[in-house]
Amino acid sequence: MLELFRLDGQVALVTGGDKGLGQGIALALARAGADVAVVSRSGNAVATLSAIASAGRRGVALTADLSSTAPIEGLINDTVAQLGRLDILVNNAGIIRRAPATEYDWNDWRAVLDVNLDAVWALCQSAGRLMIAQRRGKIINVASVLAFQGGLRVPAYAAAKHAVAGLTKALANEWARFGVNVNAIAPGYMVTDNTQALRDDPERYRQILERIPAGRWGVPKDLAGAAIFLASSASDYVHGHVLVVDGGWLAR
Ligand code: NAD
Repeated sequence: MLELFRLDGQVALVTGGDKGLGQGIALALARAGADVAVVSRSGNAVATLSAIASAGRRGVALTADLSSTAPIEGLINDTVAQLGRLDILVNNAGIIRRAPATEYDWNDWRAVLDVNLDAVWALCQSAGRLMIAQRRGKIINVASVLAFQGGLRVPAYAAAKHAVAGLTKALANEWARFGVNVNAIAPGYMVTDNTQALRDDPERYRQILERIPAGRWGVPKDLAGAAIFLASSASDYVHGHVLVVDGGWLAR
């Protein structure tokens, strides 16, 4: 049965794979057998690439600023040119900007929507065309528990993540018949740069920790199982699902 989860001979593209949750997902896919194109804004993905190499897989670093959709077609083409094909797309890159709604700056609103929604849409569309043509593919969008909740002081982020959940379902409805699975992972509160400000605030840190039934914040490797499942044949009949990995946060 474990063969169902193997990714040997497959190629994944992971945005924001240089650090944080994207790095955890890229490594999980490599350890399950995939070669991985690691997209980052800086182009410096040395740590991820060396761990992929240690897993005996090929990794390539691609540079792109996903605050614009301009680089997206190129990312898909470069992945195919350098690694030979594209089977798995993980839309992980994302940003967060915090401020009370009454003071929320328009530029922050736009910046969050550009990276967390527009780039996700454009990458899904571009990869989807290729995957439909090859009659197979796996798209995994990284949403959040804020695809279900509003959060505090993060209106653009909550709006974008709700939209990512909706987009995931909309695309699944159109593409399932072509053998293309579109699903999402909704992480809870995880230890990465994204949540540094929350963890630096002792009161917020304690409030959040107290609500997590698992009794701890998540770490990038906590997403490994969900990512491998949604990238592999094990999930071939799973379409439009938002898989929550949150230590039980939403169950409270
Ligand atoms: P992080 O800040 O460590 O990583 C964010 C990644 O996105 C980085 O690799 C960064 O380079 C990339 N990125 C940001 N802006 C970019 C741009 N303009 N162009 C290209 N790449 C860009 O944070 P993280 O927690 O690892 O976040 C990864 C994803 O997980 C995000 O979509 C985030 O919303 C989501 N998420 C995080 C948490 C959490 O608790 N950390 C919870 C739920 C969802």
